[in-house]
Amino acid sequence: FAEINTLAQTLPFHAERTPEKLALVSKDGEVTYQQLNELSGRAANALLAEGIPSGSRVAYLGKESQAYFELIFACAKTKNVIVPINWRLTSDEVKHILSDSESVILVVDHDLTAIIDPIKSELKHLNKILLADSPHSLSQNSPTQSQNNTDLVETTKDYTYQNWRDSASDTHIEIKVKGKDAVAQLYTSGTTGLPKGVVLPHQSYFKVRDALQSESLHWIDWQEGDNSLIGIPGFHVGGLWWSAQGFNAGITNISIPVFSSQLAIKLIKDYPITTMCVVPAMIQMILSEKNIQSSDFHSLRKVVYGGSPIGETLLSRGIEIMDCDFAQIYGLTETGNTAVCLPPEAHQIGSELLKAAGRPYPGFALKIIDSNNNILTTGEVGEVCIKTPSHMLEYWKNPKATFETLVDGWIHTGDAGYLNAAGYLFICDRIKDTIIVAGENVYPAEIENALGKCDGVVESAVIGIPDERWGEAILAFIVFDESAEQSIRQVCLALQNKLASFKIPTQFKIVDKIPRNASGKILRRILRDEFWKNKERMVN
Ligand code: ATP
Repeated sequence: FAEINTLAQTLPFHAERTPEKLALVSKDGEVTYQQLNELSGRAANALLAEGIPSGSRVAYLGKESQAYFELIFACAKTKNVIVPINWRLTSDEVKHILSDSESVILVVDHDLTAIIDPIKSELKHLNKILLADSPHSLSQNSPTQSQNNTDLVETTKDYTYQNWRDSASDTHIEIKVKGKDAVAQLYTSGTTGLPKGVVLPHQSYFKVRDALQSESLHWIDWQEGDNSLIGIPGFHVGGLWWSAQGFNAGITNISIPVFSSQLAIKLIKDYPITTMCVVPAMIQMILSEKNIQSSDFHSLRKVVYGGSPIGETLLSRGIEIMDCDFAQIYGLTETGNTAVCLPPEAHQIGSELLKAAGRPYPGFALKIIDSNNNILTTGEVGEVCIKTPSHMLEYWKNPKATFETLVDGWIHTGDAGYLNAAGYLFICDRIKDTIIVAGENVYPAEIENALGKCDGVVESAVIGIPDERWGEAILAFIVFDESAEQSIRQVCLALQNKLASFKIPTQFKIVDKIPRNASGKILRRILRDEFWKNKERMVN
C-alpha cells in the first residue's frame, strides 16, 4: 500500500484492487472494501450536503461500530475532522469535548442518548445530532423532510445516521487532500489535567510504514491473509492508529465494541485472528481466564501491545502462552501514536530488554533532558523527548500548551526515562507520578513490576502519600489471586530481595480491582481519593 498517503485514498485504493475482500467485522455485521468505500462515500456526500466548511469537526460518541469507521473515512475524504469521544465519560465531560472542539455534527449510539439529553441545549456549535442505529434494527422511515441544520435530537429520533447517509447521493467525490491536513482530533484522557484536543494529520497514519519500509524492518508488518483484532478502543490514539494501519494494508479488521477477555479469546479462535493490538491490562485479563492453558492461540502471528508499562512477569507469561511474536509500541496521542518499538527479536524471555520500551523507528529520534533542557547521557534519568514525523499539528485552540509540548519539532512527553548504550529507551513512569522518598526518586511502575513478581499478586498500583519523616511514603493497592493464600507480610518479605528498602511500600490495601481508564492506564487520582477517604483503614 506504498502508494497511499492519506486516509482519503485508503478505501478507494483497496475497493478497486480487492473489492470483495472483507474490510470490517463489527457489532453491525460484515462489510467488504467495496461496500465500506461506497458507504463512506455516501456519508461524505451527506457531510458535503450539510454545507459545512472543510475542517469542520464531526463527533462520534459510541462503541466501535461500522458507522464510526464510515465516518472516519467520510471525514478524510471531505477534509473534515473526526472527533471520537469516549462513551464512558459523563455528560459534563462530553460537553467539554463537544464545546471545545466546536463540533457541528454529532453521531451518537442510540443507546447512549442519556449522556447527550441533559446537555444538548447547551451545545451552541452543534447543528445536528444523528442516532447511530444497528443496521439490523433500522427503521424504514424515510428522512424527515423538514430536517434543517438547527434540528437536534427531538426532531431526529427517526432520522438515524443510516437514513442521513442513505439519503445522500452516491456520486464519486474528488477533493484534494494532503498529508498535512488534519483528519482526527483526539482528546487526551486527562490523567494529567483537563483533556486537550490533539489535532492529528493524515500523515500520522503513514510515517511508521514509511520508516519501516525504508529499512525493510518487520517490526510491525502485515500479510495478505491477516485478520486483525482491534483491542484498544477507537477513541484512543492506539485504537484509531491500529485500525487505520489495518485498513491501509487492505486486510480484514475485527472490532470489539467493548473489550472482554472471553470475547477476545473466542474471536481469536473463530476468525481466526493473526495479529492484534492491545494494552497490557487486556493481556492480563486474557491470561487471568480460568481455561487459559487450553485456549486456542495457534493462529496468532503477532501481538502488538503498549499504552502503559507492562511487568516482565505478565509479558513473559504472555509470550509463553500465546507463543507468537510480540512487539511493544510506545508513544503518546501527541506523537500520533507509536514512535518507539521493541521489536519481536528483543522479546527473549529473561532478557534485560523485556524492561525496555524499544528503539525509535528509522528517522525518528529520542533525547533525554533535565529540567534545564540539558541533554543527559546514557543511563541518566530525565524527561523523554521525541522527534517524529507523525507528531500532532497542535493542541486545538491551545497555543500555550502547544508551545510547551512541541518545541522545535520535539514532543516533550512528561515521561521519565533513560537510554541504554544501544539506544533502547527505558520508561520509568510519568514524571508527575514520581514518588520522592527521603529525596530518592521512586517510580510507581518499578514497584508494580516487582509486586507482579510476588506469588499470588494479580495486579497492583502504588501511589505516594505524605510522610512526616521521609516527605513521601509508598502505599500499595494489591489484588490477590482468589486461590492464593498470600499475606501482605509474605509480599513484604518477597520484596526485600527485589527492591532497595526505601522502595518497599510501607502501607498496603487489599482491593478487588485496580481502577483503570479505557486505555488500561491506572487511575491514580481515584486511588489518591481512596487514600484520603479511608486513611485509617490502610495496613501499615
Ligand atoms: P493525558 O495526557 O491527559 O494523561 P493519556 O494518558 O490518555 O492522557 P496518552 O497519549 O494516551 O495520554 O498516553 C501516553 C502515555 O502513555 C505516555 O506518556 C506514557 O506515559 C504511557 N505509555 C504509552 N506507551 C507506553 C509503553 N509502551 N510503556 C510505558 N508507558 C507507555
